[in-house]
Amino acid sequence: MSFISQRLSYFDSSDFRDAVRKQSELVNPIDLSIGIPEELTPEHIKAAGIRAINEDKTKYTPANGLQELRQAVAAKLQDENGVHCTADSVTIVPGLTTGQLLVYLAVLDPGDEVIVFDPFYPPYPHLASMVGAEVVYVSTLPTFQPDIPSIEASITDKTKLIVVNTPNNPSGAVYTESDLRKIAAIAEKHEILVISDEIYEHFVYDGKHFSIGSIYPNTITMNGFSKEHAMTGWRVGYIAGPQEVIDAINELQQYVVMSSSSIAQHAAMEALKHKPSPELVEKYHQKRNLIVGRLEALGYPVHGAQGAFYAFIKAPHDMTDVEFVERATEHGLVVVPGRAFSRLHGYVRLSYGADMQTIEKGLAVIEKIARELA
Ligand code: PLP
Repeated sequence: MSFISQRLSYFDSSDFRDAVRKQSELVNPIDLSIGIPEELTPEHIKAAGIRAINEDKTKYTPANGLQELRQAVAAKLQDENGVHCTADSVTIVPGLTTGQLLVYLAVLDPGDEVIVFDPFYPPYPHLASMVGAEVVYVSTLPTFQPDIPSIEASITDKTKLIVVNTPNNPSGAVYTESDLRKIAAIAEKHEILVISDEIYEHFVYDGKHFSIGSIYPNTITMNGFSKEHAMTGWRVGYIAGPQEVIDAINELQQYVVMSSSSIAQHAAMEALKHKPSPELVEKYHQKRNLIVGRLEALGYPVHGAQGAFYAFIKAPHDMTDVEFVERATEHGLVVVPGRAFSRLHGYVRLSYGADMQTIEKGLAVIEKIARELA
């Protein structure tokens, strides 16, 4: 007998639990698994957080966040992304992962269909299933770019949402403006909401980031501070969208989160005053070039990887993802089995959030495995 709800079955990772256990037993692993940037939170942002504590700005904020922060976010979205919004149509959330759940709770009824591109950031489908919605997967293989005819073909009269994530986790794909316009046209024709998760917007090496919310008003634009400002532990992000959706999220926030951290919000206000430096983006560009160059030299094709800090590659010699991950673990390298991000079982995800030295060590292991398999 178990006290645990059926809902938890949507997070089932039992088919790679063993592989993860072996990884966790490694001492000093070469870690190319986690989606965390190598940088530390910049000093001026930490100082703003410390100042907030010292000035006793430590109480609940309004459920939708501090007015000043919402205003700054709205200005950013207008100026940088062309997304029309006001401070009132922005809400602050304790990270986009919670934000994703809040959006789903606000707009989905059991039986509604949500289109998720495969591969995907794991919460997209699993949280949708958890709230009783049906997930309709649309494959983006082999290029990881959205397949417009397949998207159109997957629409039914129950489709409520299309989830878009560019730059993409785990593939690193950056979607073109032209494809995003086509997705917007489909959504408009069928009166469907779009979620656009843009958390990697500044990590773009090929192509250009385009916000679908700038052309389609029924877009729920989500972004945050975790990646670009190295603030994963501060737990703060934002959502902008149609007023009725934001109002519904705000009502939920009163019951679910009360408010996001006041300290993190003050730090986020400081973060918003600074765009990421070209040097930071260039550093990630160099890491991307190194990874892609070395993998392709081994004959491992890399699709996507135009942005974010991930490469999603096919395991060599028709190995399953878990077989490759276990082999890598034997050599002290930690990467993520692709089935965490996909219904496919032959891919692995490498993160180059890690520093150059770790990436070099990881690539040396992959080259060693390639020699063993040759
Ligand atoms: N969205 C995507 C696509 C991500 O890859 C991640 C983290 O890996 C998040 C959202 C999480 O954002 P947050 O830290 O704001 O919850």
